[in-house]
Amino acid sequence: MTALRGLLRGNAAVNTRTAGRWISSVAAESGFSFPASQARKGVAPRRDPGSRNVQWVFLGCPGVGKGTYASRLSRLLGVPHIATGDLVRDELAATSPLSKQLTEIVNRGHLVSDEIIIDLLSKRLEDGVAKGESGFILDGFPRTRRQAEILDGVTEIELVVNLKLREDVLLAKCLGRRICSQCGGNFNVASIDIKGENGRPGIAMPPLLPPEHCMSKLITRADDTEEVVKERLRLYHELSQPVEEFYRIRGKLLEFDLPGGIPESWPKLLRALNLDDHNEKQSAAA
Ligand code: AMP
Repeated sequence: MTALRGLLRGNAAVNTRTAGRWISSVAAESGFSFPASQARKGVAPRRDPGSRNVQWVFLGCPGVGKGTYASRLSRLLGVPHIATGDLVRDELAATSPLSKQLTEIVNRGHLVSDEIIIDLLSKRLEDGVAKGESGFILDGFPRTRRQAEILDGVTEIELVVNLKLREDVLLAKCLGRRICSQCGGNFNVASIDIKGENGRPGIAMPPLLPPEHCMSKLITRADDTEEVVKERLRLYHELSQPVEEFYRIRGKLLEFDLPGGIPESWPKLLRALNLDDHNEKQSAAA
């Protein structure tokens, strides 16, 4: 990790000719490795829905529903859904010296360092491999162009799904987000019903309410306050364009405007992913 810190600090001096080599060495020095089954294969992206080697990334603003759709797809495709935000929150809950440092950063809506996030992600991938996992759907990583380059240096990402929603809906969804402190289930109490105007389509998203037994155990994420959400959205917009561009020029970016809530969006997303012939599996993922 010390060598990684040195390399990360020296990034400004890295020119494009040596970038590829640098990225690989950053990845190697950081221990950011993928098992043989997930390592860069140098082959064209696959879209075989039956394959357990799906290596997809979900991009999108805070509150857009990356976690919801990525976890549904992970059940459908039989691959793990790995959300770096969850890894960070697990670390926060551990009350280690690192968690103190992270709490301050996360509660201000800022990003944690590449070193820390890569370390957490590497550990998660290694643990998964030890359990026999293969493939993944990443959610919340990469967040910066540098993270995208590091990832690109170590493995082949087949597809990057960019989920989109209008800003006023994103804010309402973040503020309505609730988590069951017991089962960890994600819910949303926001009831969104915006009428279309001036040629702009309306959008309706009914609340995603928890079952009765979770009702009294609902908590709100500390970083889902209005001030922090606005800062997270601002930062996301600032950093996401280079990441989107990185994947767009590689022909991997699938833009997807969410048309509404889950019942409306899920079948359309499956169609966009050429997975709509897997009707029988949809109910298993619901
Ligand atoms: P999320 O649940 O994806 O909104 O992530 C919650 C918080 O975890 C973010 O606001 C960041 O502080 C941190 N985080 C998650 N993923 C990353 C990442 N790829 N790089 C840096 N920080 C991250």
